[in-house]
Amino acid sequence: MQCPRCKTENGTRTICSKCGYYMYRPDVANRAQMTKGQQAIEDTKLVGKKVGKVFKYVWMIVTLIVMSAWLVAGMVWLVSTLGGQ
Ligand SMILES: [Zn+2]
Repeated sequence: MQCPRCKTENGTRTICSKCGYYMYRPDVANRAQMTKGQQAIEDTKLVGKKVGKVFKYVWMIVTLIVMSAWLVAGMVWLVSTLGGQ
């Protein structure tokens, strides 16, 4: 099945391997419900992607702060050790 969003051929897959688009089959009886569910899945995915991106940046910043704090602490320790002699 071809993805209606990015035109990637996904074979028998129902979720696009490239963009994650949910491709429901047209032979499914409760089509309206599937469309609603599909929308909900899409929304959850989008929010999850955004949160994941933000979390990545926050994690990077926290790691940088912690690393620089350790570096400064190490420098201070080194200076005080050398200065004490
Ligand atoms: Zn796609």
